Amino acid sequence: MTTTEIIDKIKQLKAEKNAIILAHYYTRPEVQDIADYLGDSLGLSRMAGNTDADLIVFCGVHFMAETASIISPDKKVLIPAKGAGCSLAESVTGYDLLQWKKANPDGLVVSYVNTTAEVKAYTDYCCTSSNALKVVQSLPKDKKILFVPDKNLGAYIQKVTGREMEIWNGDCCVHDKIDADMVLEKLEQYPEADVLIHPESSCSADDRILDHPRAYMYSTAGIIKHAKESPKQQFIIATELETIHKLQQDNPTKEFIPIHPKTICGQMKKVTLESVWEALEKEQFEVRVPDELREKAWLPIQRMLEIG
Ligand code: SF4
Repeated sequence: MTTTEIIDKIKQLKAEKNAIILAHYYTRPEVQDIADYLGDSLGLSRMAGNTDADLIVFCGVHFMAETASIISPDKKVLIPAKGAGCSLAESVTGYDLLQWKKANPDGLVVSYVNTTAEVKAYTDYCCTSSNALKVVQSLPKDKKILFVPDKNLGAYIQKVTGREMEIWNGDCCVHDKIDADMVLEKLEQYPEADVLIHPESSCSADDRILDHPRAYMYSTAGIIKHAKESPKQQFIIATELETIHKLQQDNPTKEFIPIHPKTICGQMKKVTLESVWEALEKEQFEVRVPDELREKAWLPIQRMLEIG
């Protein structure tokens, strides 16, 4: 079957089943192009909560589909690539948090959204890279905080807010490779460009980067907004490579240079057009969070959405 035929099938099944396709910016360009809504973790969570569709096809990794199922328990949430996981989400467990809470009964756990439903169930506040600073700034000053699971995002929040936190030692295998030397070298190579950096990168709390006049730290949605609004014509993109697809579509006359050709999340690339078609046709693979777990995991997500 040709690509056009597959796309036609997807459109037809979507209409028949009142389905919506949500896709993350890190998925393949052809998957992004068939999505009804393209976004980062926060945007996709909001969309999962607002849609009237009966079926959500979530083009992303497993924890994202779980979050959608927690937000919209009355919808059927499907993930086209069954094994699509996340190294960061897998670096902490609910048991780890239970132990910390026993040792720190008055402490607060702030979890980045890249965590499993089980971890969210032991979390007080969830956040994404879009609202992490706001979430941490909103917490009572006398409380001890544990931030999980991303050590680089945690270090960045601590540096910017001045709030001491215990930080979990997890990382994203894609962003952790983006260090300060790599960024500074690229800035020297492109003297007219701004560099737009995701705070999961290992350079995110480095003073040489935070003080650099051409370096900006943003969530993926923030990177996209900055590139659109800036009068600059050239940008170095220090996040997952596929983000450039959307940036180039929005800004056809501007130039986007990847920080490194290998900043690729293989898990996100498991979603293909064929798998989206199959997911719709066979209604596979359903992601559903059990009710008891869902009820516990819902509160920190709700707080995250409210703090926005
Ligand atoms: S880019 Fe990193 S954090 Fe995002 S899904 Fe891939 S491994 Fe997980």
